[in-house]
Amino acid sequence: MTDPASSDSPVSVTETRCAIVGAGPAGAILALLLARAGVEVALLESHADFDRDFRGDTIHPATLELLAALGLSERLHELPHGKLRTMRILTPTGSVTLADLSRLRTPFPYVMTLPQVKLLELLVAEAGKSPNFQLRMQANVQRLVEADGEVRGVRYRDADNAWHEVRAELTVAADGRFSKVRHLAGIEPKGTAPPMDVVWFRLPKRATDEAHGAEICVSGGHFVVLLDRGDEWQIGYVILKGTFAAVRSAGLPELRKGLASTVPWLADRVEVLQDWKQVAVLNVESTRVDCWHKPGLLLIGDAAHAMSPVGGVGINVAIQDAVAAANLLTVPLRRGRPSDDELAAVQRTREPAVKAIQRVQKLLQETIAKPGLTAGSEFRLPLPLRLALKIPGIRNIPGYMMAFGPHRVRLQEQPAR
Ligand SMILES: Cc1cc2nc3c(=O)[nH]c(=O)nc-3n(C[C@H](O)[C@H](O)[C@H](O)COP(=O)(O)OP(=O)(O)OC[C@H]3O[C@@H](n4cnc5c(N)ncnc54)[C@H](O)[C@@H]3O)c2cc1C
Repeated sequence: MTDPASSDSPVSVTETRCAIVGAGPAGAILALLLARAGVEVALLESHADFDRDFRGDTIHPATLELLAALGLSERLHELPHGKLRTMRILTPTGSVTLADLSRLRTPFPYVMTLPQVKLLELLVAEAGKSPNFQLRMQANVQRLVEADGEVRGVRYRDADNAWHEVRAELTVAADGRFSKVRHLAGIEPKGTAPPMDVVWFRLPKRATDEAHGAEICVSGGHFVVLLDRGDEWQIGYVILKGTFAAVRSAGLPELRKGLASTVPWLADRVEVLQDWKQVAVLNVESTRVDCWHKPGLLLIGDAAHAMSPVGGVGINVAIQDAVAAANLLTVPLRRGRPSDDELAAVQRTREPAVKAIQRVQKLLQETIAKPGLTAGSEFRLPLPLRLALKIPGIRNIPGYMMAFGPHRVRLQEQPAR
């Protein structure tokens, strides 16, 4: 156990049943589900607020159904949002609908676009109604508390740099793709570097714009993703891996030119982009850890697997991990410390879906993104894909995969205490 008499001994030591590190989508949902089911939980977040531009502002049907089951659907839909019902790809040789969610059998046949901050604020406000829930902002977790080879909690620094210790039967690392907790636990992710990175920014939407939903425009070696956010366009300007420095030194006029030549109807507003501060760069990764758990510790969401942005499913996958963890661990946590086998069950439930999604993303990167970014090539969608998208039944698969993934996780009702 950490020596409380050491020079950096904590100014507070508290105990809870489950300490969750990271109030992103995975951590916030898990905290809400556990607190509602009667498990004491402390959610520790390093930032002072939930503001996070371009950090996955999409909510998929699986999550919309979950939020409806939690009684949050009305409040969510009252917030200003956009709805993506289709994803089309436009190339010099024509357009193809890659995914059509409007055909799905669900009360929510669309992807909602909503700033992530709004979703997180809603989740923690709801969790805050439970006496079992504690939120600590500006809690920057820097150490694990360990004893007898088991994780027994964490230590964090607060805004004044003072140490605090939270002891817990279970610590959950939901601290994202650069997870500190994962590193402290000696777990390293393995993965591939997909062939692209993404430069994100926004442009105004006009009432006369004919485009809608999500569109991928590929032309002349440029690859641009447009997401309809209701009152503006979120634009993903896809570039070859590791080339952002070159794009930046070529200057914003070049980027604006590339954008206007690929999406000509945006030419009337590309001048809005005047400063590199308006863009966020996503270094695309696709990684997984081999083992999602150690005694007393579980990894979920991006901490266990960073997803490529293909299909925009990162949030959905992270939230499904949280639901699986709540389904499997609520009863063990009510009892005390979940066993290794109970923690392993979360990985067994979720890993096949994560692997399958990453395989499909890799295929799409190699057959669509990479050729689309190779200047000079006359880009066409691969013939087997074009044919498959014409076959009734098969053409519904991409929409279903986007909405629910290969394994639909449903929230299980927990037995009364
Ligand atoms: C630029 C960008 C665009 C994206 N676009 C999309 C999209 O359109 N759709 C989509 O589905 N996904 C998208 N993603 C991916 C998506 O954001 C992630 O998959 C998702 O947020 C993962 O959720 P998470 O809860 O696992 O981790 P995160 O959302 O990363 O949350 C981790 C949390 O942990 C906190 N934290 C980190 N370290 C510590 C620490 N030491 N102590 C305490 N707290 C800590 C962080 O502040 C953060 O709040 C995008 C990602 C990026 C970077």
